[in-house]
Amino acid sequence: MKYVNEYRDPELAKKLLERIHQRSRKHVRLMEFCGGHTVAVFKHGLRQLLPPNIEMLSGPGCPVCVTASADLDKAIALGKLPGIIVSSFGDMVRVPGSQASLQQARAEGADVRIVYSAQDALEIAQENPDKSVVFIGIGFETTAPTIAASILRAEQEKITNYYVLSLHKVCPPIMKAILDLGEVRLDGIICPGHVSAIIGSLPYRFIADDYGIACAISGFEPVDILLAVEMLVEQIESGQPKVEIAYRRGVKPEGNPAALKLLDTVFEIGDADWRGIGVVPASGLSIRKNFEKYDAAKSFEIDAGPTREPKGCICGGILRGVSTPLECKLFRETCTPEHPVGPCMVSSEGSCATYYEYGTGVEKPAWT
Ligand code: SF4
Repeated sequence: MKYVNEYRDPELAKKLLERIHQRSRKHVRLMEFCGGHTVAVFKHGLRQLLPPNIEMLSGPGCPVCVTASADLDKAIALGKLPGIIVSSFGDMVRVPGSQASLQQARAEGADVRIVYSAQDALEIAQENPDKSVVFIGIGFETTAPTIAASILRAEQEKITNYYVLSLHKVCPPIMKAILDLGEVRLDGIICPGHVSAIIGSLPYRFIADDYGIACAISGFEPVDILLAVEMLVEQIESGQPKVEIAYRRGVKPEGNPAALKLLDTVFEIGDADWRGIGVVPASGLSIRKNFEKYDAAKSFEIDAGPTREPKGCICGGILRGVSTPLECKLFRETCTPEHPVGPCMVSSEGSCATYYEYGTGVEKPAWT
């Protein structure tokens, strides 16, 4: 198949669904790790089409949602320092921190700019040589290579007023952390498509080998996801967990060597603080010593003050797969996309925003 419409073909989707219904016998729990998958599952009504013995859970794969309050507070504190321009992706600006959001900090006088990429932030640095420009680097292995490229470009072009606050996270260690927590029993994982385009399929092998959990890497169209679910059902029913790729047009087992080289040049593995989970060893990307002059965490004194989570918000449990937005008393009441209390309602890939936008998962999909 070559065109995106083919991955939305209802006939193909129905055939896959028939095969899933025929083969699936056990009651299984599948986690879609990635927020993009959660959106696609809800948008296309896939939960309602799967057999009732297949339970779908959402995982921690939304980069805005997993950014810890303490890290967000650091970004806000940086914005309040004189002579600093903070640049960030749009969603991050609206996430409430312990005291305020970046958006509120901007209203109080901080210079906070929304950018679409780290390259945009680099251009702001070139245009404002008398200011220090800090890019808030969030995201997984998908976005981190472009941020690495921005640091290499700053080095090449001798831009000395550009900094990155690296809050990047890597996926396999957090999958391991969630499995080790033992709070949620999983039979299969739909592994993230975009992350896997960078890291390949090999880093997930421990999930099948050590935990006996089925894995399939999926794209973001309904046929991609149903193909991944079919693979998972077959692995589970046959008792042969492994890592399969249901997104062959985007993912190779070895990943993308050029992007991996970029990552390795600029970043090294470090600890990362995850909302709802805490500090997970070796689950983040820190800027290497050779490039530490671009590291905002080392270049500025950041006093973020005490951290507190939004009152009543259960984003942490949602990100660990132990709660759903429907269990939050604030959902649709005080917490809405216009007035978000927690990050899962801010980000377009957040579970709460997805439930809000597409329903609770019990409505009948339009295309059946
Ligand atoms: Fe947090 Fe709002 Fe989601 Fe509740 S509905 S968990 S307050 S983001």
